[in-house]
Amino acid sequence: MKRPKRKAIPKWVKDAVLKRQGMACAECGNPLMDGVRDPNRTEYDHRPSILMRMVNVDGTDYHPPQNDPDHIEALHKACHLRRTVGRIPGAEKTVTTKDSDAHLRKKFNLLEGRTTKRKYKWPSKSFPKKQKGFRT
Ligand SMILES: [Zn+2]
Repeated sequence: MKRPKRKAIPKWVKDAVLKRQGMACAECGNPLMDGVRDPNRTEYDHRPSILMRMVNVDGTDYHPPQNDPDHIEALHKACHLRRTVGRIPGAEKTVTTKDSDAHLRKKFNLLEGRTTKRKYKWPSKSFPKKQKGFRT
């Protein structure tokens, strides 16, 4: 089934998320007050990742729905980046991809069989039946 497009998170959802978290970052716990004045500094993360959600029966949204405030977390831009790519901004190399979206994406591809390498499997019944019991 085709996966629905990602939707922008409406303002009421963001407000609900901020209120639930008490205006604090879901990752580091520091206040997100700056994010209120400058929206670019607060980002919203889908938990679980959209990638890992099942598509609903109608194929119009996910389960849970994309914009369900209970499944979205507000966090600093830097914290979001660290969580998403498993990388601390400015770090030279990836520290860890565990529990990050990058890790999940890999796993998800594997689950759906979208791997680049494919082992060729010989058909199990490759010998014609009439050769059975053939004597030399
Ligand atoms: Zn933070």
